[in-house]
Amino acid sequence: MTAEIITVGTEILLGNIINTNAAYLARECAKLGLSDYYQVTVGDNAERLAEVIRTALLRADIIILCGGLGPTEDDLTKETVAEVCGKQLYLDENSKNRIEEYFKKKGREVTPNNIKQAMIPEGAIILENNNGTAPGVIVPFENKHIVLLPGPPIELIPMFEESVIPYITKLMPGVIESQTVKICSVGESAVETQIKDLIDSQTNPTIATYAKTGEVHVRVTAHADTEQEAQKLIKPVVNELKLRFGNNIYTTDEKVSLEQAVVSLLEASELKVSTVESCTGGMVAARLINVAGVSDIFKCGFVTYSNKAKRKLAGVKKSTLEKYTAVSEQTAKEMVSGPELGPKADVIVGITGYAGPTDTPEEPKGLVYIACNVCGSIKVREYHFSGSRQKIRESATTEALVLVRDCVMDYFSEKTFG
Ligand code: ATP
Ligand code: MG
Repeated sequence: MTAEIITVGTEILLGNIINTNAAYLARECAKLGLSDYYQVTVGDNAERLAEVIRTALLRADIIILCGGLGPTEDDLTKETVAEVCGKQLYLDENSKNRIEEYFKKKGREVTPNNIKQAMIPEGAIILENNNGTAPGVIVPFENKHIVLLPGPPIELIPMFEESVIPYITKLMPGVIESQTVKICSVGESAVETQIKDLIDSQTNPTIATYAKTGEVHVRVTAHADTEQEAQKLIKPVVNELKLRFGNNIYTTDEKVSLEQAVVSLLEASELKVSTVESCTGGMVAARLINVAGVSDIFKCGFVTYSNKAKRKLAGVKKSTLEKYTAVSEQTAKEMVSGPELGPKADVIVGITGYAGPTDTPEEPKGLVYIACNVCGSIKVREYHFSGSRQKIRESATTEALVLVRDCVMDYFSEKTFG
């Protein structure tokens, strides 16, 4: 089945708001196994909106519109859909009561234009809005389904999850199951090259790669009559991915994040960790502390931004800073050889680099050194990240977690195999 996403709003066309709804809906459609060939953004203009809806009706089974369900004059999505489908709007008493209740609870007066939101195209299914006033609607039309959702993401997302996913799932014969294989330490193009043969020959299950900062997710999605049959189709592909990527796969569980995988590894290894951060300013510690129960393995986080802090807190020698500078392999190594203060940890990770925005030959933007000390065995890696200051810091943070994971695994394999 095919879907087309239409986001409505002049604000989007002007670049005043970022079209996060389109990204969210596209991801959800992919998860549901819907093929999304077109996404359209159109302004708050009835004529152009009608044209876009007519075109979508020619090429998609499910049309998802978002925005323009509000009470004001420029909110015209429902009216336009009704017109295109030749349907009348009627006042739905239940929706009207809900809107009145909503305003009463907030201690505000209902204005007549709010009642416009209770006008529903005949034959439509009403989707309750538990986070705002405008109900969503689904208009079945000539074997097609037109889904209308409110623009604000805090209203759209719960409505999609609560009402639209069950509706679409019922339309699809059989079930769709997917599993995500999360890979670190390998770039997106390298992942794609290594699985090109699988991607080229895919039918069912399908294989899609998603690049994240410092990681790549491969989603395997199967369509079958039953859940067991779908799982049976997914399993050999996931096993093949495990064979090809080995230890670079940190999880095959959609819900597990990189920091969770790192924390689990440290817990299983009975190792405590401390962080010594310069350009990431505590972001590595924050990612680790995202994980509930991390207190068992997290000792201490230092932000040693200035050279003085690097010396006093992390024990970096003055001579090292003078000879090699703060962003060097030597400094990174010494940052994880202490730290001078705080409880001793088994694993210390240190990050020093130039996050920009200035970029000079002496201080090249994106040059980062990350060091990891596991029980006295130290590794340092040099990185060249690109992008904004924020992006560089995020990349460094992810790579620091990846390095901890790699070093802990290496430490144990060296211990086991000599
Ligand atoms: P309202 O009742 O708030 O008017 P609405 O359904 O009419 O809701 P719009 O008026 O189109 O929706 O948009 C309201 C707000 O929702 C926007 O100002 C914006 O903050 C957010 N929004 C709308 N469309 C999108 C989108 N495609 N992506 C992200 N946010 C959006
Ligand atoms: Mg509006």
